[in-house]
Amino acid sequence: MLRPREAVRTLPAYHPPLAGRNGLRLDFNENTDGCSPRVLEGLRSLDRDELAKYPEREPVEAIVADFLKADPRELLLTNGVDEAIHLLCQTYLEPGDEGLIVVPTYSMYRIYVMAAGAQLASVPLGDEFRFSAESVISAITGRTRFIAIANPNNPTGTVVTSEQLLQIARSAPEAAVLIDEAYFEFYGQTMMNEWRRAANIFVARTFSKAYGLAGLRLGVLAGDREQMRAVRRVSSPYNVNAVALACLPKALADQDYISRYVEEILETRMRLVRALEANGIRFWPSQANFVLARVGSSRADAARFVDEMRRRGILVRDRSGDYGCEGCVRITCGPREHGDRVLEALAEVSSEGVVQGASR
Ligand code: PMP
Repeated sequence: MLRPREAVRTLPAYHPPLAGRNGLRLDFNENTDGCSPRVLEGLRSLDRDELAKYPEREPVEAIVADFLKADPRELLLTNGVDEAIHLLCQTYLEPGDEGLIVVPTYSMYRIYVMAAGAQLASVPLGDEFRFSAESVISAITGRTRFIAIANPNNPTGTVVTSEQLLQIARSAPEAAVLIDEAYFEFYGQTMMNEWRRAANIFVARTFSKAYGLAGLRLGVLAGDREQMRAVRRVSSPYNVNAVALACLPKALADQDYISRYVEEILETRMRLVRALEANGIRFWPSQANFVLARVGSSRADAARFVDEMRRRGILVRDRSGDYGCEGCVRITCGPREHGDRVLEALAEVSSEGVVQGASR
């Protein structure tokens, strides 16, 4: 009988709740405004011949390299950051090796580490989701070959300093250290080009969040030129499709759109945390386009909050099942009018006692 590999048979299925997302989408940290209108020019430029051809990644990689002030040999366009994570696990993890993550964090690190047949080592964030470089460093073993750190982190929105990240990378020279900067645009600090100081550092960026292109599946993985040569060997030469490649230069060219969007999101984030504060709801200061809030003390409390928001046409994400996140929901920040709607709904559910169980 045909049997999947042991690592795959034991892999827990991951089904993000994508079905029936009718309403204001504040559940997946997407851009809820839509991408720059100029991206549609890229779409319209496509003709039948362009779609008939296999996509050519390199010319667009040169444009992205220029934008990131990196060498094209130092980067690879990917099918979202998810593919970047997958490629790193495929490149560096042997069965029995260890992949290290700091929980709670983005789910796909665990999936790809386990799918590679490696052991997962999870270091918990400290009190108040504080990051401790010492805890990570003391969890590094002779088998650690992959470390993933989202900065800012999802779902907490918390950050790690560049010094801490460099210290970790230098403590694990035999591990690929992925700094996942999916939320970079809302934070502004980066480890881009730091692989020149520690050659095991990789940086990932996405066009799914600030750029509003989650549906196109576009990410970048960047790192040391020699290491990237190995990563590229694992990748399909056609991993990024022609439609995405035609749109990306247009998206990058409209930085005015990005700065305006980010400015609005940061304003909404500030209004949201003030409203949470005013309603006595515990939250964690976030450097990303979302806020994690504790709306109760149990999973049932969080589920009830999510249901009540959905009844008001707003989708937020239940994160109660994540490590240390009992009773927590994650709310994406949208542009001003989406912020207005979430604040209105929050005021209603608070006054109805839906967040009564919140611990301060
Ligand atoms: N990394 C982090 C930290 C994320 O939160 C997400 C999306 N939720 C991703 C990566 C996935 O990004 P992409 O759409 O580029 O695959």
